[in-house]
This record gives sequence, structure tokens and C-alpha cells, in this order.
Amino acid sequence: MLSTMQDVPLTVTRLLRHGSTIHGTSQVTTWTGEGEPQRRSYAEIGSRAAQLAHALRDDLGVDGDQRVATLMWNNAEHVEAYFAIPAMGAVLHTLNLRLPPEQLAWVVNHAADRVVLVNGSLLPLLAPLLPHLAPVEHVIVSGPGDRSLLAGAGASVQVHEYEELLAGKPESYDWPELDERQAAAMCYTSGTTGDPKGVVYSHRSIYLHAMQVNMAQSMGLTDHDTSLVVVPQFHVNAWGLPHAVFMTGVNMLMPDRFLQPAPLAEMIESERPSHAAAVPTIWQGLLAELTAKPRDISSMKQVTIGGSACPPALMEAYDKLGVQVCHAWGMTETSPLGTIARVPAGVGADEEMGYRLTQGRFPAGVEARLVGPGGEHLPWDGESAGELEVRGPWIAGAYYGGAAGEDFRPADKFSEDGWLKTGDVGVITANGYLTLTDRAKDVIKSGGEWISSVSLENELMAHPEVAEAAVVAVPDDKWGERPLATVVLKEGASADYDALRSFLAERVAKWQLPERWAIIPAVPKTSVGKFDKKVIRRQYADGELDVTNLSDQG
Ligand code: AMP
Repeated sequence: MLSTMQDVPLTVTRLLRHGSTIHGTSQVTTWTGEGEPQRRSYAEIGSRAAQLAHALRDDLGVDGDQRVATLMWNNAEHVEAYFAIPAMGAVLHTLNLRLPPEQLAWVVNHAADRVVLVNGSLLPLLAPLLPHLAPVEHVIVSGPGDRSLLAGAGASVQVHEYEELLAGKPESYDWPELDERQAAAMCYTSGTTGDPKGVVYSHRSIYLHAMQVNMAQSMGLTDHDTSLVVVPQFHVNAWGLPHAVFMTGVNMLMPDRFLQPAPLAEMIESERPSHAAAVPTIWQGLLAELTAKPRDISSMKQVTIGGSACPPALMEAYDKLGVQVCHAWGMTETSPLGTIARVPAGVGADEEMGYRLTQGRFPAGVEARLVGPGGEHLPWDGESAGELEVRGPWIAGAYYGGAAGEDFRPADKFSEDGWLKTGDVGVITANGYLTLTDRAKDVIKSGGEWISSVSLENELMAHPEVAEAAVVAVPDDKWGERPLATVVLKEGASADYDALRSFLAERVAKWQLPERWAIIPAVPKTSVGKFDKKVIRRQYADGELDVTNLSDQG
């Protein structure tokens, strides 16, 4: 028997209509660096999204599922693009402005972007790339910036001014009724190995994910709130916030290009947001700024942290400032909300921190399983560590193949039965709380057991003479792999390997203790500040590290 329910597609268009009417007075406030911020109501965003759709269709001839890219900061115009492009049936491709230029060119060509909407301040990045972006026919420039940089763009590219294109266009648009499964937006992963991979979100996945973001057990915001959206719109749809707030009327405070700690502190003090979302490094920077120059941040009750693990000390520091940090885990492939660390009912105050420091609990829309070293499924006992696999209506099932290619499912990213292999290793408790212990490529597979490089590093970094420590797997004849500990000592420190090993021996199981040690001047880092263990593994393989093997010494 089929249901008797109406079959109304879940589309971005519905979010746009709802937000711009029912929540028409809610606001997007964009920081301008000097003077008054720019303020725009959701009703105005709705009218301007209609004007943008007219400009794209009538003036630029964007049709069907053609790709329109954005190379933009978080601001009101970017929100307009977020709604206009998918609602007219085209596909929004948000470009990560921190990708190396050659990767940026690669993704524009792979996605076959016909139009690029760019903030003027990012023209120094886009202009030199244009000769290498064959599919791009139109560039639309918004906001301050030196237009003369586009002088050499060539005859094949037409340059437009955003505000001039919108001026005089009708403020409503006959939005087409779309299939909820069709592509709405796409975002490429910023993988450090191989080419970036395209994740294509559907209208349905965006809609369902936005509902999850809004749930009380997730971010749980309402139209009484203002959210400072630091997490970039070019990275996994700013964690779905622009879509979620059009459901609920939460106001958005957008930092544009002013992402340094001082302007962030200033905008919190003057615009008084109640919530904010960003990666841990932003919160570390802000904390240092607030310590050096205290500001009134009393409006901010709650912040969502994700993207990498939240250090306990950071959470405690914000607790002292009256700001509740809520930890979440996700990936480009998971839209991104995969878990969020709300404390369960019935636990005492002394247990709360333990829950808040986990990556969090899976919502109903995300199914999870752990797969062990031999491919076996592991129990949720809080102890058995395995690679996390997930599935659900807002989880990727494949990567975009490009104009000529088929969508593809590499075996290291998707299981045979269609689950996403996250590449993250962790444990899950019986009540569904995930704690990540490593990345799959970094975990040390020693004699059929897994050693967490992250926990060895955390223990080592607790030593008073250690500034930083990175632990990597190296080949071992007997065990397959064993840990190599590379340590950066604090200035003037004199710890020796025996002392460090004894320190570790009090904290981890004996079979996990590294035999191989090296003191290094600094841990190599990736462009986003994560430890670059690939480099350490290569240095070891090439014999560039001065390694002491304690087992050789008896
Ligand atoms: P991306 O696709 O660039 O957003 O990166 C996703 C990856 O970031 C995940 O697979 C994790 O390895 C890492 N990550 C995200 N959130 C967290 C978190 N809360 N704790 C630890 N790692 C995280």
C-alpha cells in the first residue's frame, strides 16, 4: 500500500520562500571593517535572489543544471547566491579560496563552471587563473576590489558588476518546481593527496540536513538568536547554517574577510551574537586576543566547534568566560553534521565534561558502524577501535565524475554495500557517543592491534619539557608497523629519550611504547595547520631523521 500523503519535493526553493516571507524581518549583517555594517533583511535577500536569478538566466543565459561558482567570503551577497542558483535549477559550486591556485583551477575545470561570482578582494587570486579556466564565460564582481586586475581577462570572458546586473530586475521569479534529488550545490574536498573530489548535494539532502541543524539536540537556535557564522560558506555550506536559518529566522552575522581575532572580538562586542560556529584555531586565536585585551562577549552563550578535535583546555577556558562550547564532527562528504556532543539526560555534573569532549552522538539521520583491522564489525563498547563508516540521507554515496566521466566510488572511500568510509578511527559507546582516536592513515597497525598516534601524542605533549610531538607508523619486520615518536622540545629543555619513555610508560600500555625516537626542530604542518605526517614518514624513509632505537640499546 502506498501512503496517502502529498509528495512535495524538499527543495532549497521552499527554504527561500519560507525564510524571506515568514522570517522576512530577520537579518544578515555583514561586517565591513569600518563604519556601519551592511544590514539586509531576509525579505530583501529573497527579492535580490530573484533579481540574481533573472540576471543569470536573462542576461548570462544560465540554463539547466549549469554550474555557477562563487569565490566569496561570508556575506549577504553570498547568501543570495546560495538561494538563487539552486532555486533556479542551476548548481552552486562554492570555491575554496584557500586551495592552492593549481587545485582551484583544476576544480573549476572539472566542475565546468560557466560563471564565477567573485568578491573584489579576491580578484588577485582569480585574475591570474582566468586564462586557465576554459569553461568560464562570465565573471561577476561584487564588493570592493581592483577591477583593473581583470583587464587581461581576454575576449572569451565577459566581466559584470553584481549590483549593475541586479539593478531594475523584477523582485520575484517564477521558480521552477524541481526534483528534490537533483543537484543543488557542490563542494570539493581539500584532500592532501590526489586530486580534490567533488561532493554534490541534492535539494533533499540540504533540506533534511538543515532540519537536523535546527533540532534542539543539535544547534537548536531560534529567531531570538544571532549566529556569528565564521565557518566559511565555501567549506561544506558553512555547516548548513545559511539553509537552517532560513527555516527558523535565526539572524546571521557575517565576518566577510575580517577573520582575524581582533575584528572578530570587535564584532562580538558590538553586534552581540548569541551563537557562533568555527574551527578550534579560530577559538584559540580569539581566546589569546580576549586575554590580551578583554571585551564584553557576554551575549555569546553557545559556540559550535568542529573540523578538528577541540582541546579540553580550550573548552575549559571558554566555560570560564561563560561560553558553552559544543563539539561536533563532520566532513565535506557528510554535509557536514555527523555527530554533536550534547550531554545526555541523567548524568551528574562530574560526568558532563567527559561527554562534551567526545565528538558527540549520532542523530537519527546518520547510521554508523565501526570496522576493525580485519574488516569485522566491532561492538559499541567504548573500547573497540575501528574505522567509522556512516550512511544516511545527507551522506555522499559517490564523487562527481566530471562532465565526461561517471560518478565514482573508490574502494577506500565507499564499502561494497554503499557506506561512506570516513577515514576516521574511533570508539563508540553503547549510547552512541563517538570518540575519534586517529585518522585511518595515521593509526599504527602493530601485530594486528591498533595503536592511536593521537593518544601517544597527547600523553607526550603533557610532559613539561615537550612543546609538540607527532607519532607516525614506520615499517617493522616483526610487527608490521611500530610507532616512531618525533618530539619538539621546549626551549632550553633537556629531556632524554629514556625519561620520555618512562613518562609514557606510566600512561600507556607497555606494548604501545615507541622504540624509535627523534628530536626534531618543528612538526611539519599542512596549509590548514594540521600535522603533516606524510612529510615525517617520508623523512624517515629517506633517512633524514636522526633516529635513536631504544630496543637496539637493550
Ligand atoms: P573536511 O572534509 O575538510 O571537513 O575534513 C573532515 C575531517 O576533519 C574528518 O574526517 C576528521 O578527520 C576531521 N574532523 C572534523 N571534525 C572533527 C572533530 N570534531 N574532531 C576531530 N576531527 C574532526
